[in-house]
Amino acid sequence: METTLKLAIQKSGRLSEGSLELIKKCGISYTQTLGKLKAEAHNFPMEFLFLRDDDIPKYVANGIADVGIVGENVLAEKNEPVEKVEALGFAKCRLSIAVPRDFVYNSLDDLNGLKIATSYPQILQNYLSENQVNAHIHVISGSVEIAPSIGLAKAICDIVSSGSTLISNGLKEVEVIFRSEAALIASPKLNEVQKEVLQQLLFRIRSVRKARENKYILMNVPNESVEKVIEILPGMKSPTVMPLTTEGWSSLHSVVKEDDFWKIIAQLQEAGAQGILVIPIEKMII
Ligand code: ATP
Ligand code: ZN
Repeated sequence: METTLKLAIQKSGRLSEGSLELIKKCGISYTQTLGKLKAEAHNFPMEFLFLRDDDIPKYVANGIADVGIVGENVLAEKNEPVEKVEALGFAKCRLSIAVPRDFVYNSLDDLNGLKIATSYPQILQNYLSENQVNAHIHVISGSVEIAPSIGLAKAICDIVSSGSTLISNGLKEVEVIFRSEAALIASPKLNEVQKEVLQQLLFRIRSVRKARENKYILMNVPNESVEKVIEILPGMKSPTVMPLTTEGWSSLHSVVKEDDFWKIIAQLQEAGAQGILVIPIEKMII
C-alpha cells in the first residue's frame, strides 16, 4: 500500500512562496534540486511535485498527485472531482469584471451582447448565466487586461488584488464575481494510510495558522491594577500572573489575537500596564 502523500505545488508563481513557507512552518524539510520536478521530504511521509498551477486539479483528480495547493479560482474553473480540504489564507485575490474607464456602467445588463475577454470562461459563464446576462466570452490565456485597448473585447474578467494593473490599463472594476485564496485539495481516492498522513498534515497546518493569528503578550502591571488588566485581556484561558522582584508589581502573560491586541493596547496602558512585549508564537495546539 502506498504510504506517502504526493503533494503538488506550483513550480513558480504567486502560490509558490506561500506554499513552501507553509510546508516549512509545518516542520517538513526537503532538498529541492534546481530544475527538478520532484522532491522527497526527509522527516514526513511526503513527496513534492512542482507543477503549473492550472494542472494541479487534474493531476490530483487522476492520481498523479494525492493532494495539492491551488487557488480556489483555478479549482472552480477546472471543476475536477477533487475535495477541497482547507482554505489556507494566502494568495487572496478576486476575479472581477472590468470595463474601460469611460464606459458608462450602471448594472450587469450593460454587458448584454458585449464581448468579454477572460482566462476563466467557466466561472464567468456560470456567473453570467446565473444573472441572465448574454455576453460573448473570448478566451485568452494571458495579458487579459490589454484586450479592450487592442479592440479584442469590450470588457474583461480577470484576477485583481490591488487593482493597480486595471488602473494602469485604463480600466475600472465593476463587478466582483469570485473571491479566492489558496486551498489544500485532495484526491477522493486516498487509502487509509494516506488519509491518516493528510490528517497529520492538516493538524500541523491548523496549528501554524492559529499561531500566526495569535501573539504571546507579557507586561508589567502594578498589583492593584491586575484585576482590571485581566478584564481587558481576551486571553485563551486565565492569564499567568507572577510577582516581580520590584515590590507591588506583577508580570502578566497571556495569548491574544493580533487584531484584538491593537484594539486593547490603549486600554492596557491606561490601566497601568508597562513594558508590554508582544512575541510571535511558532505553533499553537489547543
Ligand atoms: P503558472 O505558470 O503556474 O500557470 P500563472 O501565471 O497561471 O502560473 P500566477 O500568476 O502565479 O499563475 O497565480 C497563481 C494563483 O495565485 C492564481 O490562480 C490566484 O489564485 C493567485 N493570484 C493571482 N494573482 C494574484 C495576486 N495579484 N495576488 C494574490 N494572489 C494572486
Ligand atoms: Zn497558471
